[in-house]
Amino acid sequence: MKPNIRVGYGYDVHALAEGVDFWIGGIKVPHTHGAYGHSDADVLIHVICDALLGAANMRDIGFHFSDKDPQYKGIDSKILLKRVVDLLDEAGFGIVNVDTTVCLQQPKLSPYIEPMKTKLAEVMGLPVEDVSVKATTTEKLGFVGKEEGVAAHAVVLIYRK
Ligand SMILES: [Zn+2]
Repeated sequence: MKPNIRVGYGYDVHALAEGVDFWIGGIKVPHTHGAYGHSDADVLIHVICDALLGAANMRDIGFHFSDKDPQYKGIDSKILLKRVVDLLDEAGFGIVNVDTTVCLQQPKLSPYIEPMKTKLAEVMGLPVEDVSVKATTTEKLGFVGKEEGVAAHAVVLIYRK
């Protein structure tokens, strides 16, 4: 018999623009530039949502919260994450753990990692030790290295309750 656990993966990219609020992992990171998109463009929350939905085989964030829908314009992505966790809960799934990497050249994210973990754990109703956030630059290579964008990856493990 197979164990009642499932893995999920998420990947997302947002372009950076000057003078835009920079939301990452539910935390507003002070910087000259920020990520832009239809919602608050929180790339870290978006990849967690996609990984959770993928683990449950429930499509992706754009399927549930269309970027054409005005009700999601500028929306706080923490609200979307809470809704995704509720969707999984209704489908009978709980979260084992979440592991993520944010790819960003500037600014250094190390001062914000613990606040992000705390915030994300709170939104998902998890102990903070079950939520990992890592950050890397891309050694000045590619769109991240040229500070044109921010990318993130997430893997999650879920279990059937
Ligand atoms: Zn996104």
